[in-house]
Amino acid sequence: MPPLAHLAWPFFGEEHRRFGARLADWANKEVGRHIDHADVDQSCRSLVRALGDAGWLKAVVPAAYGGLSEKLDVRTICAAREILSWHDSLADFAFAMQGLGTASISLFGSDEIKAKYLPPVCSGRHIAAFALSEPEAGSDVSALATAAAKDGPAHVRIDGLKTWISNGGIADHYVVFARTGEAPGAKGLSCFIVDADMPGLEVAGRIEVIAPHPLATLRFTDCRVPLANRLGGAGEGFKVAMATLDIFRSTVAAAARPMCAATPVSTAAGAMGAAAGAMTGAMAGPVAGAVSRRPMVNRRPADIPVDMHVPIHVNVPVDIDGPVVPAVPAGAAAPADPAIPRKAAPVPAGAPPG
Ligand SMILES: Cc1cc2nc3c(=O)[nH]c(=O)nc-3n(C[C@H](O)[C@H](O)[C@H](O)COP(=O)(O)OP(=O)(O)OC[C@H]3O[C@@H](n4cnc5c(N)ncnc54)[C@H](O)[C@@H]3O)c2cc1C
Repeated sequence: MPPLAHLAWPFFGEEHRRFGARLADWANKEVGRHIDHADVDQSCRSLVRALGDAGWLKAVVPAAYGGLSEKLDVRTICAAREILSWHDSLADFAFAMQGLGTASISLFGSDEIKAKYLPPVCSGRHIAAFALSEPEAGSDVSALATAAAKDGPAHVRIDGLKTWISNGGIADHYVVFARTGEAPGAKGLSCFIVDADMPGLEVAGRIEVIAPHPLATLRFTDCRVPLANRLGGAGEGFKVAMATLDIFRSTVAAAARPMCAATPVSTAAGAMGAAAGAMTGAMAGPVAGAVSRRPMVNRRPADIPVDMHVPIHVNVPVDIDGPVVPAVPAGAAAPADPAIPRKAAPVPAGAPPG
């Protein structure tokens, strides 16, 4: 069972403790039997349905549409992601994407749109996805090139490519961001719900990753979408995207916690090594299939100051049921850990990651 003692901390309430304890108990019995890493699509479908049947997806929709609380509660979503991720990252993924693929609807949809899309996501009968990233637009959302041109009084036609789209290929709807041109850059984007079966939307390719999950590149060609499917006003797409990410970004840290929480400092240093390896790969050129076609970093891991180990030693969250790292007074040198090399080994140019 994942450790839950931190839910006693004062910024959690009784509702989070009850939610966490019940979910941990359910996940312990249920998650494993829905997972087959050789068939991630079927695993995700099965996990989403099981999470819906058991009522856990109520955490990602507002109460008016079957959810737990009036607005999405970030602490509940964090608790859920941490517990599910402790069991399997695919379980966390199945849960989180139902929220990421609907928060824009919860926040900006009309009553009619919310009534149509939220209940089936909450019950696990409908799979959601969020399509923002493009081959040339990742962090820089204002560089989006996918266009939604007006097509008569009540429709737009979407053309362009989206990539790295989680649940791509298995989703029932995609929340899609496209350029509508009201103003340059971030002020000229709008957001639309595109149903998976709308003509002109196709899966251009699946993306394989080290931790397999459904991930795809989507192509939109003359994809005709009703204006009624727009979330927020014309030109408000950037605002919709950022408001959605504001909720879900912090929950990513909760999902990552099981990977480092019960981790001794020496393993955290190992994780740094793995990250450095990945950066080496990124240095050598764009990561295969990555969103951006540009190299991601321009410094070699060996260039990173060895002192980067110090904040890790001091700040890595330590499982409160596990070993406690002695606090280091401000300004004092961290105690030497024999498992942490004091000098990063030089990495040969073009070396593969890892
Ligand atoms: C497993 C996986 C699932 C994903 N699922 C989805 C999804 O469901 N939907 C979706 O829309 N996208 C998804 N993405 C894409 C993801 O959101 C993008 O990868 C992300 O936005 C970063 O974009 P990028 O990869 O192009 O990196 P870049 O934008 O090229 O950034 C590379 C690095 O440079 C840093 N950087 C960038 N700009 C600056 C700056 N101005 N100043 C300082 N540092 C900067 C970034 O922080 C990052 O560390 C997924 C990605 C992955 C890996």
